[in-house]
Amino acid sequence: SKAIGGRSFRFYAPAMNERQHRLLALESELHRALERKEFVLHYQPQASLRSGKVCGVEALLRWNHSERGLVAPNDFIPLLEETGLIDDVGLWVLRQACQDMRILAAEHGHAPRVAVNLSARQFSSQRLAEQVAGVLRDTGLPAEQLELEITEQMLISDLESSRATLESLRELGVTVAIDDFGTGYCSLAYLKRLPLHVLKVDRTFVSGLPDDGNDLAIVEAITLLAHKLDLQVVAEGVETAAQLETLRALGCDMVQGYYLSKPVPLSTLAGAATLTV
Ligand code: C2E
Ligand code: CA
Ligand code: CA
Ligand code: CA
Repeated sequence: SKAIGGRSFRFYAPAMNERQHRLLALESELHRALERKEFVLHYQPQASLRSGKVCGVEALLRWNHSERGLVAPNDFIPLLEETGLIDDVGLWVLRQACQDMRILAAEHGHAPRVAVNLSARQFSSQRLAEQVAGVLRDTGLPAEQLELEITEQMLISDLESSRATLESLRELGVTVAIDDFGTGYCSLAYLKRLPLHVLKVDRTFVSGLPDDGNDLAIVEAITLLAHKLDLQVVAEGVETAAQLETLRALGCDMVQGYYLSKPVPLSTLAGAATLTV
């Protein structure tokens, strides 16, 4: 292979090796992170606009790195997905979130519903419902206290197997939310025909409230549509009182965002769970 490529080979090879090296190093670091229990979950409360109280939380993954500190998911989840490690980490997240809610319930008498993000690989796995059932059985969390978040793209990439997966999740009693709603390419017709429960309005539409007329129209339309289809609406990324009041006026069901609370570790969630809007 020495003869092939000549000068350009020598020029490009070290750069590629370096990138591959970094990815390999990161991959084995992520392997070790799972073994060393360096992954942690933070929980962000969601409040009902009807009762004003916290009714749910979203589990959000962090990597507690010995040197780099708390690493955000966007910095490592893509690699977990690429390497397939997301299968193990995703199952760990599911189990940990259910366990944590049981701990909270044991200490405080009750726990909010917990929403867990699924990766595309997890959602397309034939074993998803079986794994969810196993985790619920092992942890003792009631199925109605678990919500799974998927995106529009995951739903439509294989509509028939999505439908089968959603049906078996519904049979278990688990609810399903469409995350980042409005940013993908979901045909509205699908929404009506699939067993879904919640639409999470993406924060890019919330951020323009209350002044941006387009965002106002989009959020209002999504809310009307969702309610006609018997779906609940959660607004994500709510950062100001004005946004919250606008969402309330538009008939949105729940809010989640820094205005209510940032994602917090389990140890401080009980305090955050008493917040009101
Ligand atoms: P997401 O599911 O859309 O989660 C919401 C993200 O918005 C979180 O970022 C959250 O911290 C952030 N956020 C919440 N409120 C506000 C706000 O008021 N303003 C702003 N600017 N941001 C807000 P985070 O925790 O960095 O997570 C990023 C993404 O990583 C998530 O987006 C989700 O797609 C993915 N992710 C997180 N945990 C998991 C997991 O356990 N499994 C999988 N497959 N993906 C995960
Ligand atoms: Ca989410
Ligand atoms: Ca989201
Ligand atoms: Ca997102």
